[in-house]
Amino acid sequence: MQIFDPQLLIPARTALLSWYAQQGRDLPWRKTRDPYAIWVSEIMLQQTQVKTVIPYYERWLAQFPSIAALAAADQQQVLKAWQGLGYYARARNLHRAAQQVMQIGGQFPADLKSAMALAGIGRTTAGGILSAAFNQPLPILDGNVKRVLSRLMALDKPPSKALPQLWQLSQTLLDPVQPRDFNQAIMDLGATVCKPKQPACLLCPWNFCCIAHQTQMQNNLPVSETRAPVPHKQIGVAVIWNDQRQILIDRRRQEGLLGGLWEFPGGKIEPNETVEQCIQREIKEELGIEIEVGEHLITINHAYTHFHVTLNVHHCRHLSGNPQPLESDEIRWVEVNQLEQFAFPVANVKIIQALSQPALQPPESAPN
Ligand code: SF4
Repeated sequence: MQIFDPQLLIPARTALLSWYAQQGRDLPWRKTRDPYAIWVSEIMLQQTQVKTVIPYYERWLAQFPSIAALAAADQQQVLKAWQGLGYYARARNLHRAAQQVMQIGGQFPADLKSAMALAGIGRTTAGGILSAAFNQPLPILDGNVKRVLSRLMALDKPPSKALPQLWQLSQTLLDPVQPRDFNQAIMDLGATVCKPKQPACLLCPWNFCCIAHQTQMQNNLPVSETRAPVPHKQIGVAVIWNDQRQILIDRRRQEGLLGGLWEFPGGKIEPNETVEQCIQREIKEELGIEIEVGEHLITINHAYTHFHVTLNVHHCRHLSGNPQPLESDEIRWVEVNQLEQFAFPVANVKIIQALSQPALQPPESAPN
């Protein structure tokens, strides 16, 4: 690892800003100085690509045009507007933080410490918002920036093991006069030139000061993070029908993965258990009712960041007992055509799509 040569600092800033003036991306959140709109974009972009974010960002601002409007919304409206973006804690935190802002006067705070006190806002998000909205000289360190800086200094360890050095370099490089443009520029450089695979060094404004390029190490950096193997969970899922042709859904508890979203009930298949046995046991434990497990409806594979799941979905028939939300916040019997009104995780949306095909619905008299 090498220290950045201070003599190259001014030329590096100039080269990046001039590249940005010509090659920077035209993104909707760059046309505003409203900290709320920029905040929404920063949160959406945390785990999601720009092209996916743009329509969500535009719909979101049409539905919740201000911090006050978002704070006053019902959580289910917020989750529904987020549906499909994933990492739903971001939406719950954005909603909660809007309510926090309303308690301190309704204006997004213009200082780093107060911004970081809001739910879901860490140092890089706060730096991104405050530099973009108010041109404050605050560094950022998102995934793209970590990769660019790791290559620039030929970092000899995974970025997560060198965060203080990376923050320091981001701060050192930052242009004190144009921090807004500089931060946007370095994000663009990571997204369009210094990409994870095959960085386009010959087109890069920093190739004259980049150690990775000079030592031909750009394809081997950053050093990979050591990752544990990704577990794969087999899940049994029940579409439970009653005699009125309604389906039972439950709302997940607020804490944890997919908190606050609706789902079809079910759970993890234990060793030596069949899918049918799992569904029967889970439904008894979660809802306190007896069911008959019927025909297979659909199998869905879905990848989360830290694990993969296979949902084995069956039609089921309610036999006895009043369903209780023993492991959820709320339950409801709904008609198939009402399911659209609720916020579901993406994997469950595929179940709804299967249910909307008449051929995959159970016959009138029984689910199986
Ligand atoms: S020269 Fe290559 S490795 Fe270095 S910052 Fe530019 S694109 Fe990335």
